[in-house]
Formats: sequence, structure tokens, C-alpha cells
Amino acid sequence: MFVTRRIICFFVVKLVFMIETMGIQVTRAGVSKLHDVNFENLPFGRYFTDHMLEADFENGEWKSAEIKPYQPLLLEPSTAALHYGQSIFEGIKAYKDQNGQAQIFRPYDNLKRFNISAQRMEMPAVPDELFIEGMKQLIALDHNWIPAKPDYSLYIRPLLFATDALIGVKPSESFKFLILLCPTGPYYSAPMRIYVEEKYSRAAPGGVGFAKNAGNYAGAMYPTVLAKKQGYDQVLWTDAFEHKWLQEVGTMNVFFVFGNLAVTPSLEEETILAGVTRDSVVSLLQEMGLAVEERKIHIDEVTHAYREGKLTEVFGTGTAATISPIKELRYKDFDMHFDVASWKIAPGIKRRLTDIREGRVADTHGWMLKI
Ligand SMILES: *Cc1c(COP(=O)(O)O)cnc(C)c1O
Repeated sequence: MFVTRRIICFFVVKLVFMIETMGIQVTRAGVSKLHDVNFENLPFGRYFTDHMLEADFENGEWKSAEIKPYQPLLLEPSTAALHYGQSIFEGIKAYKDQNGQAQIFRPYDNLKRFNISAQRMEMPAVPDELFIEGMKQLIALDHNWIPAKPDYSLYIRPLLFATDALIGVKPSESFKFLILLCPTGPYYSAPMRIYVEEKYSRAAPGGVGFAKNAGNYAGAMYPTVLAKKQGYDQVLWTDAFEHKWLQEVGTMNVFFVFGNLAVTPSLEEETILAGVTRDSVVSLLQEMGLAVEERKIHIDEVTHAYREGKLTEVFGTGTAATISPIKELRYKDFDMHFDVASWKIAPGIKRRLTDIREGRVADTHGWMLKI
């Protein structure tokens, strides 16, 4: 009798749990903020849509997720992420195609990277159903926020951080996962002036350079501000030992074009982010007929090629700006200048990528996920 009651009780609890985990609970915002936002002026990351997704990880499992009105969080001052930086994020974009259908650019690649970052920071993996399905449901609810104008998009920010209310140094046992959405306008990236960094480092082998964790950004701010004071937009990060092997430009991957050859730093040292834009650009460059090499690249190779007139284009790649041309590259007291207006490769790649994302050309790579 006692045993059967326990069994029945177990099944009831199990059933309630299944119902909760199967669907994402949705609480709609009473009023939309959509008409309070001027879509002609959208500073990156400033405005958020009506809803957000929130899910908590506790006792070894993900609790039911909720889509609810965008709102502040209530956190203990002892929240572990604030003290020890167990915190990771992603950046993804959604677009409207020519029929007004919303589609997301390569979100499974971001999910894969998110879980690589999570593992390195001793955090739980986020399952597909939560990351992809949650994102799709959230975007479907806020689809009116996706600007249907060329070069406009919806920026998607998933993040995961430690929520143990405990300031002892140890991996947290509870975590919060959020997805936020921001409408974004055309990100005009003015050609950049870049300083080759020789004192500060962003990442070393064995470190966390390949993870998209909050601390990588915090550590980059001071050297970047110093470079800005000298009139540069960003730094070009170099290896931590010799400061000669090139890594990334600010928070973007970097490409060097030597005529019909494009070179970008390889990933095997795990000091740079495996950019989804980087990977897409590699494919598109090859389709344009260029040879692409992913390998180590030394600053001397760059300066020599420049002196011989063989370095034709240099640019950064990332989700926010897609492609950012570099008009000036400074190494020690040597200044390299580029006539960005005459370039063919970087603008061609940017156009091609935008056409795929906005559905003007066929998505032959299977990059777009329809909502
Ligand atoms: C996010 C990021 C990139 C670019 O990655 P994408 O997937 O192309 O947006 C490059 N470098 C760093 C350090 C980054 O954090």
C-alpha cells in the first residue's frame, strides 16, 4: 500500500515536471514599447524588444523556461558571476527575407560555441530546445521588432551566468540563462585605424581566448582606451610571448589579402574566437576564387608584403559589423595606409553575405534558419 502510493506520487510529480519542461511559459507584455523607439536612430545594443527569455539551472537540471516582459533582474549582492566572472554570451542576428519571413543566421554554430565556452568556464551546457526553440519562440513573439529594411537586423544576445549566492571561490551550482533582443540599424563601420599591440595581451595558449566569456572583454578595455587616446580605433592583438604573431583585431577576427590569397590566423592555439562570420567569410572568399590559408601569421610578413605593394586589403569580421575595413595599421613607428575606396574583395564579401541574409540570393550553404 505504502509502496504503491509512493509510486503513484512519483508519477504525478514526473508528469507535472514533463508538462513544465515541454513548453516554454509565455507571459505577454501588456503594452508594446515598439512605437517609443525611433528606428531611424538605433545605437547598437541600446533598445530592447518587449520580451526576454529566462531559464534557471538548479540542482543539476534546467528548470522550465519563461518568456516574459523585458524587465530588471533581482539578484543577491553575493551573486557569484559578479565576483568571479563565471559568465558567457553570444551574438547572433535575425533578418527578414524578401517575403517578410524572419530567419536567423547560423544559430546552431553559435549554440555549439556557447557550449564550448560553457565547458571552459565550468558551466552547464544549454540544450538545443532551450537555446534554439526558445530563441525562435521569442523572436516569433517580437517579430514586429525586426526591421524589414536593407542592412537592418535583430541582434540576439544569449547569456549565461553563475547565480550561487555565495562568495566562496568555487564553480557555481546555479546559473541563469537569458536571451535578449535588440533591433539594430545599418552598422556603418568607418574604416579603422589600428595599432599593433606589443605590451598587453588578450590571450595565451591554455587560457580562455577561444571562449566568449565576459572577462575577455573586461581585460581588453584598458589597452583599447590607451590606443584610443593615441587616435586609434582598436588594437591588433598579438601573441603573449613575442608580440609578433597576429591574433584578432579588437573583438573581431582579422583577414589579410595578398592579391589572390587571403590569410587569417588559425584556431589551433585556442587563443582566438572561432568567429561564425570568419567561417562564413572563408567560404565566400573561396567561392570568389581566392585561395584561403588559415595559419599563423607574423607581423613581419605583413610589413614586408606592404612594402612590396602586395598587401591589398586588411579587415576585421564579426556579427555586429560583418566586415570592418582597416585603413591604417601601425606597427612600432611604421605606418601602413590602405586606399579602402578602391577595394574589391571586402565590399564584395560584405554584399554577398548581406544578400544571403536578407534572402536576395539563394542560401546555398544552409545558413539561414526560418522561424
Ligand atoms: C564574438 C567575437 C568574434 C566574432 O565572432 P562572430 O561569431 O563572427 O560574431 C571575434 N572575436 C572575439 C573576441 C569575439 O568575442
